[in-house]
Formats: sequence, C-alpha cells, structure tokens
Amino acid sequence: MATIMHVDMDAFFAAVEVLDNPEYAGKPLIVGGYKDSRRGVVSTCSYEARQYGVHSAMPIAQAVALCPHGIFIPGRMGRYREVSEKIHAIFPEFSPIVEPLSIDEAFLDMTGCEHFYPDLESMALRLKGRIKEETGLTASVGVAPNKFLAKLASDRNKPDGLCIIRPEEVDDFLHNLPIGKLWGVGKKSAQELNKLGIYYVRDLLSYSLQDLEAKFGQSFGLHIYNLARGIDPRKVEPLHEAKSIGHEITFEDDVTSLAILKSQLGRLVEDVGWRLRRHNLYARTVTLKVRYYNFRTITRSHTLEAAFCDDDTIFHTSFRLLEGEKLQPIRLLGVTVSNLTEAVQLSLFEEVESAHRLSEVMDKINARFQRGAITKGRTLINDDSQ
Ligand SMILES: [Mg+2]
Repeated sequence: MATIMHVDMDAFFAAVEVLDNPEYAGKPLIVGGYKDSRRGVVSTCSYEARQYGVHSAMPIAQAVALCPHGIFIPGRMGRYREVSEKIHAIFPEFSPIVEPLSIDEAFLDMTGCEHFYPDLESMALRLKGRIKEETGLTASVGVAPNKFLAKLASDRNKPDGLCIIRPEEVDDFLHNLPIGKLWGVGKKSAQELNKLGIYYVRDLLSYSLQDLEAKFGQSFGLHIYNLARGIDPRKVEPLHEAKSIGHEITFEDDVTSLAILKSQLGRLVEDVGWRLRRHNLYARTVTLKVRYYNFRTITRSHTLEAAFCDDDTIFHTSFRLLEGEKLQPIRLLGVTVSNLTEAVQLSLFEEVESAHRLSEVMDKINARFQRGAITKGRTLINDDSQ
C-alpha cells in the first residue's frame, strides 16, 4: 500500500501578502486586481474574504459587490515564485519522489520513507513545521493511500490542516463525503447528481459503470465510478520522468464568457509553463481539454514543429484550439503539454532559446519588481488555493 502526502499552501498569494504587509492581517484581502479593475478576476482571496462569498475565478466586479470594504490588489507573481522556490526546496528532504503540482502544491510519495517517523502524524507535522520555519506560512497536509485521497485529505481541515486517511478508513471517509467534494465535480455537476438522488459518494455505489457512462459520458462516468471506490492508479511522477505536464480547473459555475475563459487559460498556462521551465524541459504538443455543461468532454491537440517552453506559445496554441470550438457553457478547462524533451534540436535551438530567454527574463523582472506587471494583459495572477 502506498503512502502519499499532498501539501497545499493555505490561500497562498493572500498569505504571502499578509506576511509582507502585516496590516492586511485579519482583513478580507482579494488578489487579482484593483477595485476598479474591469476585466480582472479573483485569483486568491483570504479566508476572511471567503466569508463574504468571494472565491477564485470570480470577476473582480462581483467580488467588490459582495465585499465592498475588501482590500483589492493585483498581486506580485515574482514574489510568490520566490517563496514557492523555498517551499519546493524543502520537499526533497522528505522524499526522493516529488511531483510539484503547482506553485504552491506538491505530491510526495512517502512509501517506505514513513518508517523514519514514529507515525504518519509526526511525519506530516514535521513537514508543516519545516515550511513554517522557512517561510512563516502555513500549509495543509493530507496523507492517504493514493493521490486523489491525499488531495481530499489536505483540503479537509484547511487552513493549517492535517488529515490522515489510513487504508482501513478509506471507505468511511469516501462514503460520507458530499458528492460536490469529488475531484472534478463542480457545483453544477453536483446539482445534476443531486437530481438523481446522489448526495453523498456512497449514493454513487448503486450505479453500474454502464449507467454512469450513459448518463454522464464515458470520460466523466468512468471518472466518478472509480473515485467512488477510492480507485486512483496515478503514480507520483517527478517531472523529469513525466510524459506530459498539465493542469486543469473545475469551475464553481459553468463559464460562458470568453474573457473569463481566456484569463483562466492564462492562469493554467502560467502553471504549466512554470513547471516546464523549472525542469529545463521543452514540449512540442499542446492539448486542450474542455468539459461542457452536459458532461461532454473533448480534447484537442496541436503539435508544433519547434519545441517550446514559453508561456506565450502554450497560451496562443491552446487559445486557438479553444476558439475553434463552439462556445457553450464550460465546466472544466485543462491544458497539457506533451512530447517532452530535455534537449532541443540544434536547428531549432536559437528560436526556442530566445523564447525561453524571454520567459526567463520575465520571471526575473517580475521577481525583481515583485510585481506580476509584465503579464501582457491576458494573465491573471492566480493559484488554486483553497
Ligand atoms: Mg493552495
């Protein structure tokens, strides 16, 4: 049985802001744009802001309406990356098999390493302690037999959470879980499942795989069938062994606005590009994944002649794929790059190298000025923080 640990920083961008600006402590803080930002979208907000119903991926204007006295700031991507590097540098102290999932999240395969600690709880506490010591920030940690359960566990007692799901506790944990908490099930999907009398994960168990596929499409049907049984065969994959690097977001509400989709795509691309460059990898293929309001799930890929690792190429390629599709309410959006290589063919070297250098220069400028200012107007400064 595997032992997987999922680490997720608490409201990461907002927490870094509070760390650097103690006067923000205890106040509703919204990162994503100034109050008058017309096209801004909330990237992260403090727990205080969440009490007003503000959440990530919400237009700033809506957040202002919900929380007019909140503090609204655009965010400083460079500074968040700097803190992120410190956090990611800690993980190898705990396991040789680490999968950085985003700027503030990672999976650690602790199988075998758990014996170095008196018990799983001390192991998780040690990691939380190291992060606090290095950065002054809190993380939530989940420990479980697979990735999907470890991620659910880290979310359980947020913020500053710690939750362990032992193999013998998996069924109990899952059965009593509200259906909306399942990975990939947003508010709308949950409502549709509710209509069938499915409120908790246990209610899914009476449906056969064929039933679920017929009702929700092959991809989503199989997905929830497996999750309800605690099945997730994905391994913790260090990036240098990865065949692809991707990120996806399930929206709270179905999204039809192209402006919001575009900004969310920018957010996904930032994460994917960051992981590519962090490991000196290049990709040649971009794949867009879209799940529509009716559970229809499509993927569209495009392979380029030249290898790339810059955000711009990933963004423009995936956005063109998105534009090629009929605009219907979208429930989930994902971007993956594949065809990964470490070295670049010589003839293509210069071209790719200059794009790489541009992204690196932007990373550095952002770090120096501690602003996410150089984002060409499309991106959001964003994360997945819960
Ligand atoms: Mg987080």
